[in-house]
Amino acid sequence: MNNAFACRLCGECCSGDMKVFLNPRDRELLCEYLSCPPEELFSRGYLVEDLRNGISLPRLKFREFSGIKFCPFLENRLDEEGSLQGLCQLHPQYKPLVCHLAPLCRTVDFAEGTEIYGFMPPHPACPGCGPEGEGREVLTHDSLPGDLKSRLEEEREYFRSLWLALDGGL
Ligand code: SF4
Ligand code: SF4
Repeated sequence: MNNAFACRLCGECCSGDMKVFLNPRDRELLCEYLSCPPEELFSRGYLVEDLRNGISLPRLKFREFSGIKFCPFLENRLDEEGSLQGLCQLHPQYKPLVCHLAPLCRTVDFAEGTEIYGFMPPHPACPGCGPEGEGREVLTHDSLPGDLKSRLEEEREYFRSLWLALDGGL
């Protein structure tokens, strides 16, 4: 698959069994958006703890209605042609880093000292990932704006501290 992408706003990657983990900066931004203190992100049902690689990490708690699970910040609207669109209420200022970057992903290996960027469709059925064509964006780390690069660096240091706390076992 070519590294080409243009989001079709289908909402698939914001629903179902998708898991959206938040780093500390993501949580700060969410507190700003909701005007609430950090502990209320859990008590108000926006976040839940999930075990990953032996550590507990916060992720968005999806809502469930009529058997359908979806992100609490997913907003459905009809476009001019009457087609359903899935929009993000947090876009762009408060959006979690992982959602911002998709389909760009990275793999960090602290033991090896490597950091690799790749292209991964945010959902197996993502209609926005396909053959390269007009108007499609080729996603790379180099093409990211500076604020996202600094958020990536912050996130790396956050996971490095967790890795060190686990004595290199993350
Ligand atoms: S699955 Fe793909 S096209 Fe659909 S909302 Fe997510 S990124 Fe956009
Ligand atoms: S935060 Fe926005 S982009 Fe991320 S899963 Fe929720 S609705 Fe989708």
